Amino acid sequence: MGSWSDHYLVPHGRQRAPSCPEFRTAELQLGRTKGRVTQAMINTQGVTQREKGLSMADMTAAWEPVPRSRTFELVLARIEEQIIAGRLRVGDRLPPERELVDMLGVSRAAVREALRVLEAQGVLRSRVGTGPSSGTVIAAMPDAGLTQLLRLHIALANFPMDDVVEARATLERASARLAAELVTEDGLERIRDPLLRMDDASLPREQFNDCDTDFHVAIAEAGRNRLMADMTIAVRNAVRHTLLTAFNKLDDWEKVASRLRAEHHAIYEAIAAGDTQAAGDLVEAHVRGFHQDIVKKITDGTNPPAP
Ligand SMILES: [Zn+2]
Repeated sequence: MGSWSDHYLVPHGRQRAPSCPEFRTAELQLGRTKGRVTQAMINTQGVTQREKGLSMADMTAAWEPVPRSRTFELVLARIEEQIIAGRLRVGDRLPPERELVDMLGVSRAAVREALRVLEAQGVLRSRVGTGPSSGTVIAAMPDAGLTQLLRLHIALANFPMDDVVEARATLERASARLAAELVTEDGLERIRDPLLRMDDASLPREQFNDCDTDFHVAIAEAGRNRLMADMTIAVRNAVRHTLLTAFNKLDDWEKVASRLRAEHHAIYEAIAAGDTQAAGDLVEAHVRGFHQDIVKKITDGTNPPAP
Protein backbone atom coordinates (compact mmCIF):
# COMPACT_ATOMS: atom_id res chain seq x y z
CA MET A 1 0.00 0.00 0.00
CA GLY A 2 2.99 2.26 -0.51
CA SER A 3 1.14 4.45 -2.94
CA TRP A 4 -1.64 5.06 -0.46
CA SER A 5 0.92 6.15 2.03
CA ASP A 6 2.17 8.64 -0.53
CA HIS A 7 -1.32 9.83 -1.13
CA TYR A 8 -1.95 10.60 2.48
CA LEU A 9 1.53 11.92 3.13
CA VAL A 10 2.00 9.62 6.10
CA PRO A 11 5.56 9.61 7.34
CA HIS A 12 7.41 6.46 6.41
CA GLY A 13 7.02 3.69 8.97
CA ARG A 14 3.42 4.49 9.81
CA GLN A 15 1.97 3.08 6.65
CA ARG A 16 -1.44 1.56 6.90
CA ALA A 17 -4.38 1.22 4.68
CA PRO A 18 -6.74 4.17 4.90
CA SER A 19 -10.28 3.27 5.70
CA CYS A 20 -12.18 6.51 5.78
CA PRO A 21 -11.81 10.27 5.51
CA GLU A 22 -11.55 10.48 9.32
CA PHE A 23 -8.26 8.63 9.09
CA ARG A 24 -6.90 11.34 6.87
CA THR A 25 -8.20 14.08 9.13
CA ALA A 26 -6.44 12.41 12.04
CA GLU A 27 -3.24 12.21 10.07
CA LEU A 28 -3.51 15.83 9.08
CA GLN A 29 -4.05 16.89 12.68
CA LEU A 30 -1.11 14.79 13.78
CA GLY A 31 0.98 16.47 11.13
CA ARG A 32 -0.19 19.86 12.33
CA THR A 33 0.73 19.18 15.94
CA LYS A 34 4.20 18.27 14.78
CA GLY A 35 4.51 21.48 12.85
CA ARG A 36 4.41 19.78 9.52
CA VAL A 37 1.47 21.59 8.01
CA THR A 38 2.27 21.89 4.35
CA GLN A 39 0.53 22.90 1.19
CA ALA A 40 0.60 19.21 0.37
CA MET A 41 -1.58 18.46 3.35
CA ILE A 42 -3.96 21.23 2.52
CA ASN A 43 -4.21 19.84 -0.98
CA THR A 44 -4.82 16.38 0.42
CA GLN A 45 -7.65 17.79 2.48
CA GLY A 46 -9.10 19.28 -0.67
CA VAL A 47 -9.08 15.87 -2.28
CA THR A 48 -10.87 14.49 0.74
CA GLN A 49 -13.75 16.87 0.20
CA ARG A 50 -14.01 16.05 -3.48
CA GLU A 51 -13.87 12.33 -2.87
CA LYS A 52 -16.74 12.30 -0.40
CA GLY A 53 -19.50 10.04 -1.59
CA LEU A 54 -17.18 7.70 -3.52
CA SER A 55 -16.80 4.11 -2.46
CA MET A 56 -13.35 2.78 -1.62
CA ALA A 57 -13.25 0.84 -4.89
CA ASP A 58 -14.17 3.97 -6.86
CA MET A 59 -11.48 5.95 -5.16
CA THR A 60 -8.85 3.32 -5.82
CA ALA A 61 -9.79 3.15 -9.47
CA ALA A 62 -9.98 6.90 -9.87
CA TRP A 63 -6.98 8.03 -7.88
CA GLU A 64 -4.43 5.27 -7.54
CA PRO A 65 -2.02 6.30 -10.34
CA VAL A 66 -1.94 9.92 -9.25
CA PRO A 67 -0.47 9.94 -5.73
CA ARG A 68 3.11 8.89 -6.52
CA SER A 69 3.65 11.63 -9.04
CA ARG A 70 1.83 14.18 -6.91
CA THR A 71 3.96 13.40 -3.90
CA PHE A 72 7.33 13.31 -5.62
CA GLU A 73 6.44 16.56 -7.36
CA LEU A 74 5.78 18.09 -3.96
CA VAL A 75 9.13 16.82 -2.74
CA LEU A 76 10.74 18.34 -5.86
CA ALA A 77 9.03 21.64 -5.09
CA ARG A 78 10.37 21.58 -1.50
CA ILE A 79 13.95 21.00 -2.65
CA GLU A 80 13.62 23.66 -5.36
CA GLU A 81 12.36 26.12 -2.74
CA GLN A 82 15.49 25.52 -0.68
CA ILE A 83 17.71 26.13 -3.71
CA ILE A 84 15.87 29.27 -4.84
CA ALA A 85 15.92 30.66 -1.28
CA GLY A 86 19.69 30.16 -1.24
CA ARG A 87 19.59 27.70 1.65
CA LEU A 88 21.05 25.00 -0.58
CA ARG A 89 24.07 26.05 -2.62
CA VAL A 90 26.50 24.42 -5.03
CA GLY A 91 28.43 21.68 -3.28
CA ASP A 92 26.03 21.48 -0.31
CA ARG A 93 24.93 18.07 0.77
CA LEU A 94 21.25 17.24 0.91
CA PRO A 95 20.02 15.85 4.21
CA PRO A 96 20.12 12.03 4.21
CA GLU A 97 17.18 10.29 2.63
CA ARG A 98 15.78 9.18 5.99
CA GLU A 99 15.78 12.76 7.29
CA LEU A 100 14.03 14.04 4.17
CA VAL A 101 11.39 11.35 4.66
CA ASP A 102 10.77 12.55 8.22
CA MET A 103 10.97 16.28 7.52
CA LEU A 104 8.64 16.19 4.55
CA GLY A 105 6.30 13.55 5.90
CA VAL A 106 6.34 11.48 2.76
CA SER A 107 7.37 7.97 1.81
CA ARG A 108 10.91 6.97 0.97
CA ALA A 109 9.75 6.10 -2.56
CA ALA A 110 8.60 9.67 -3.14
CA VAL A 111 11.90 11.11 -1.90
CA ARG A 112 13.88 8.71 -4.10
CA GLU A 113 11.77 9.55 -7.13
CA ALA A 114 12.36 13.28 -6.62
CA LEU A 115 16.12 12.76 -6.16
CA ARG A 116 16.27 10.67 -9.33
CA VAL A 117 14.57 13.44 -11.29
CA LEU A 118 16.95 16.10 -9.97
CA GLU A 119 19.92 13.85 -10.72
CA ALA A 120 18.71 13.30 -14.28
CA GLN A 121 18.36 17.07 -14.62
CA GLY A 122 21.98 17.46 -13.55
CA VAL A 123 21.03 19.42 -10.43
CA LEU A 124 22.14 16.74 -7.97
CA ARG A 125 25.06 14.37 -8.01
CA SER A 126 25.48 11.24 -5.92
CA ARG A 127 28.80 10.56 -4.28
CA VAL A 128 29.29 7.04 -3.09
CA GLY A 129 31.12 6.12 0.09
CA THR A 130 30.80 7.05 3.73
CA GLY A 131 33.21 9.97 4.12
CA PRO A 132 32.31 13.64 4.64
CA SER A 133 32.05 14.19 0.88
CA SER A 134 29.68 11.28 0.30
CA GLY A 135 25.95 11.59 -0.17
CA THR A 136 23.81 13.62 -2.53
CA VAL A 137 25.21 17.06 -3.32
CA ILE A 138 24.10 20.03 -5.36
CA ALA A 139 26.03 19.79 -8.64
CA ALA A 140 28.76 22.36 -9.18
CA MET A 141 28.26 22.62 -12.94
CA PRO A 142 24.64 22.11 -13.89
CA ASP A 143 25.24 23.70 -17.33
CA ALA A 144 25.23 20.42 -19.23
CA GLY A 145 21.92 19.46 -17.65
CA LEU A 146 20.41 22.84 -18.48
CA THR A 147 21.46 22.88 -22.12
CA GLN A 148 20.39 19.28 -22.59
CA LEU A 149 16.95 19.97 -21.14
CA LEU A 150 16.51 23.18 -23.13
CA ARG A 151 17.64 21.49 -26.33
CA LEU A 152 15.18 18.63 -25.87
CA HIS A 153 12.32 20.95 -25.05
CA ILE A 154 13.05 23.22 -27.99
CA ALA A 155 13.26 20.19 -30.28
CA LEU A 156 10.07 18.65 -28.91
CA ALA A 157 8.03 21.82 -28.72
CA ASN A 158 8.36 22.32 -32.48
CA PHE A 159 8.30 26.10 -32.16
CA PRO A 160 7.48 28.03 -35.31
CA MET A 161 10.60 28.66 -37.39
CA ASP A 162 10.30 32.41 -37.04
CA ASP A 163 10.23 32.17 -33.23
CA VAL A 164 13.44 30.16 -33.15
CA VAL A 165 15.21 32.48 -35.60
CA GLU A 166 14.12 35.52 -33.61
CA ALA A 167 15.37 33.96 -30.36
CA ARG A 168 18.68 32.99 -31.99
CA ALA A 169 19.20 36.41 -33.52
CA THR A 170 18.59 38.13 -30.19
CA LEU A 171 20.69 35.74 -28.11
CA GLU A 172 23.60 35.57 -30.53
CA ARG A 173 23.66 39.32 -31.01
CA ALA A 174 23.99 39.75 -27.25
CA SER A 175 26.57 36.95 -26.99
CA ALA A 176 28.71 38.38 -29.82
CA ARG A 177 28.68 41.84 -28.23
CA LEU A 178 29.81 40.37 -24.92
CA ALA A 179 32.45 38.29 -26.70
CA ALA A 180 33.87 41.38 -28.43
CA GLU A 181 34.16 43.04 -25.05
CA LEU A 182 35.43 40.16 -22.94
CA VAL A 183 37.08 37.51 -25.09
CA THR A 184 40.48 36.18 -23.98
CA GLU A 185 43.30 34.81 -26.17
CA ASP A 186 42.12 31.28 -25.36
CA GLY A 187 38.56 32.21 -26.24
CA LEU A 188 39.65 33.69 -29.58
CA GLU A 189 41.52 30.52 -30.38
CA ARG A 190 38.45 28.43 -29.68
CA ILE A 191 36.45 30.61 -32.10
CA ARG A 192 39.22 30.57 -34.71
CA ASP A 193 39.69 26.80 -34.75
CA PRO A 194 36.30 25.86 -36.29
CA LEU A 195 36.50 29.00 -38.46
CA LEU A 196 39.70 27.78 -40.11
CA ARG A 197 38.42 24.23 -40.45
CA MET A 198 35.43 25.55 -42.41
CA ASP A 199 37.84 27.19 -44.87
CA ASP A 200 38.77 23.74 -46.18
CA ALA A 201 36.72 23.43 -49.37
CA SER A 202 36.79 19.63 -49.21
CA LEU A 203 35.09 19.55 -45.79
CA PRO A 204 31.89 17.44 -46.02
CA ARG A 205 28.65 19.31 -45.29
CA GLU A 206 28.02 17.40 -42.07
CA GLN A 207 31.41 18.37 -40.69
CA PHE A 208 30.92 21.93 -41.89
CA ASN A 209 27.69 21.99 -39.89
CA ASP A 210 29.48 20.69 -36.78
CA CYS A 211 32.17 23.36 -37.15
CA ASP A 212 29.49 26.00 -37.67
CA THR A 213 27.86 24.93 -34.40
CA ASP A 214 31.24 24.95 -32.63
CA PHE A 215 31.93 28.44 -33.97
CA HIS A 216 28.68 29.89 -32.61
CA VAL A 217 29.03 28.01 -29.31
CA ALA A 218 32.60 29.31 -28.87
CA ILE A 219 31.36 32.88 -29.36
CA ALA A 220 28.60 32.34 -26.80
CA GLU A 221 31.11 30.96 -24.31
CA ALA A 222 33.57 33.80 -24.96
CA GLY A 223 30.96 36.28 -23.70
CA ARG A 224 31.38 34.77 -20.22
CA ASN A 225 27.71 35.11 -19.39
CA ARG A 226 27.02 31.49 -18.61
CA LEU A 227 23.24 31.69 -18.70
CA MET A 228 23.31 33.46 -22.05
CA ALA A 229 25.84 30.94 -23.33
CA ASP A 230 23.77 27.97 -22.16
CA MET A 231 20.65 29.29 -23.85
CA THR A 232 22.55 30.07 -27.06
CA ILE A 233 24.14 26.62 -27.09
CA ALA A 234 20.79 24.92 -26.45
CA VAL A 235 19.02 26.77 -29.26
CA ARG A 236 21.93 26.28 -31.68
CA ASN A 237 22.17 22.55 -30.91
CA ALA A 238 18.42 22.11 -31.13
CA VAL A 239 18.46 23.25 -34.77
CA ARG A 240 21.64 21.42 -35.76
CA HIS A 241 19.80 18.59 -37.48
CA THR A 242 17.39 20.86 -39.32
CA LEU A 243 20.32 22.86 -40.59
CA LEU A 244 22.14 19.79 -41.83
CA THR A 245 19.00 18.74 -43.68
CA ALA A 246 18.95 22.17 -45.32
CA PHE A 247 22.66 21.93 -46.18
CA ASN A 248 22.11 18.54 -47.80
CA LYS A 249 19.28 19.83 -49.97
CA LEU A 250 21.37 22.65 -51.44
CA ASP A 251 22.33 22.31 -55.09
CA ASP A 252 24.74 25.25 -54.98
CA TRP A 253 26.47 24.21 -51.78
CA GLU A 254 29.85 25.69 -52.60
CA LYS A 255 28.31 29.11 -53.21
CA VAL A 256 26.45 29.00 -49.89
CA ALA A 257 29.53 27.73 -48.06
CA SER A 258 31.57 30.64 -49.45
CA ARG A 259 29.02 33.11 -48.20
CA LEU A 260 28.96 31.52 -44.74
CA ARG A 261 32.77 31.50 -44.59
CA ALA A 262 32.92 35.20 -45.44
CA GLU A 263 30.29 36.07 -42.83
CA HIS A 264 32.02 33.96 -40.18
CA HIS A 265 35.36 35.63 -40.90
CA ALA A 266 33.82 39.08 -40.61
CA ILE A 267 32.20 38.17 -37.28
CA TYR A 268 35.51 36.81 -36.02
CA GLU A 269 37.40 39.94 -37.07
CA ALA A 270 34.89 42.19 -35.30
CA ILE A 271 35.16 40.17 -32.09
CA ALA A 272 38.97 40.09 -32.29
CA ALA A 273 38.99 43.88 -32.81
CA GLY A 274 36.73 44.41 -29.80
CA ASP A 275 34.10 46.07 -31.98
CA THR A 276 30.93 45.27 -30.05
CA GLN A 277 28.57 47.05 -32.42
CA ALA A 278 29.87 45.34 -35.56
CA ALA A 279 30.08 41.93 -33.87
CA GLY A 280 26.43 42.14 -32.79
CA ASP A 281 25.20 43.50 -36.15
CA LEU A 282 27.12 40.96 -38.21
CA VAL A 283 26.05 37.91 -36.25
CA GLU A 284 22.43 39.02 -36.27
CA ALA A 285 22.55 39.61 -40.03
CA HIS A 286 24.20 36.20 -40.46
CA VAL A 287 21.44 34.39 -38.53
CA ARG A 288 18.56 36.27 -40.15
CA GLY A 289 20.05 36.40 -43.63
CA PHE A 290 20.78 32.72 -43.95
CA HIS A 291 17.28 31.93 -42.75
CA GLN A 292 15.62 34.41 -45.06
CA ASP A 293 17.66 33.80 -48.20
CA ILE A 294 18.38 30.11 -48.05
CA VAL A 295 16.62 27.96 -45.48
CA LYS A 296 13.15 29.37 -46.07
CA LYS A 297 13.43 28.45 -49.72
CA ILE A 298 14.35 24.82 -49.16
CA THR A 299 12.25 23.84 -46.16
CA ASP A 300 8.51 23.58 -45.97
CA GLY A 301 8.39 26.36 -43.43
CA THR A 302 7.68 24.23 -40.38
CA ASN A 303 11.16 23.31 -39.21
CA PRO A 304 13.40 25.70 -37.34
CA PRO A 305 16.56 26.45 -39.31
CA ALA A 306 19.83 28.02 -38.39
CA PRO A 307 22.99 29.21 -40.07
ZN1 LIG B 1 27.17 30.38 -38.79
